[in-house]
Amino acid sequence: MQQFEGKKVIITGATRGIGCAVAAAFLDKGATVIGLYRNNREAAERFFASSREYKDRLFLYQCDVSDPEKVALLYGEIEEKFNYIDILVNNAGIRRDAMLAMMPVADWRMVIDTNLTGSFLMSKYAVHLMMKKKFGRIITLTSPVAYLGFTGQANYAASKAGQIGMMKTLAKETARKKITVNCVSPGFIETEFLDGLTDEQLAAYKKMVPLRRFGKPEEIAHAVLFLASDQASYITGAVLEINGGL
Ligand code: NDP
Repeated sequence: MQQFEGKKVIITGATRGIGCAVAAAFLDKGATVIGLYRNNREAAERFFASSREYKDRLFLYQCDVSDPEKVALLYGEIEEKFNYIDILVNNAGIRRDAMLAMMPVADWRMVIDTNLTGSFLMSKYAVHLMMKKKFGRIITLTSPVAYLGFTGQANYAASKAGQIGMMKTLAKETARKKITVNCVSPGFIETEFLDGLTDEQLAAYKKMVPLRRFGKPEEIAHAVLFLASDQASYITGAVLEINGGL
């Protein structure tokens, strides 16, 4: 019997970057994975093809997590097909960097809507499906930027700080139902999320990390699976830092 055999896991942003590594790790440990992506169909097809051996346990859906109607419709479909879920990983996230004084309101809203409102919507419906079995694990990908701040990332920092406050609150609300709620806070991780940074910026950021390297998506996936496991049953309302000592 594999560790997550029989467990049903929703992962947002499951076809690229950290979410892709998390999805692959859950599949490898026997879980059924319901993966969401926004609009990059090519990446979704690539991920599906690379996971061919698990095709009976991998279900990919295109769904914008910031859209309340689409999320509600999707959860209707999920309930019909899967009845309940065990684990939700709120991983989908974007950044649209600009100095606050110059930041277009549209970029503020887009980041808050995707990172913060998206996690809210996904968690809101997940709790209902988890309550059916009085068991659940919600794990949300936040960022050290939430409390450090980072030049040009006011929208992103606010969304990530908001996620931490929301998840600590949800942890208290769902504890009686045996649903644990935690955050994982990665430092710099090698994904397309870092695209657009110059070589000078990347070198400067690497210097800030005591371990002197960026992390790999798989190193975040290990932590997500730990928080989803039976071994983490007494951990809730926590933020697990994985950042090379940042
Ligand atoms: P990537 O940019 O590599 O991947 C982002 C994923 O999120 C994609 O699958 C994308 O879908 C999906 N996504 C974006 N917007 C939406 C939306 N509205 N609805 C549904 N899915 C959406 O990011 P990472 O893997 O690097 O980051 C994952 C998480 O980790 C994010 O929350 C990020 O904030 C956090 N994080 C990342 C760090 C890093 O250094 N990489 C550091 C700290 C935190 P599609 O493929 O369709 O575009």
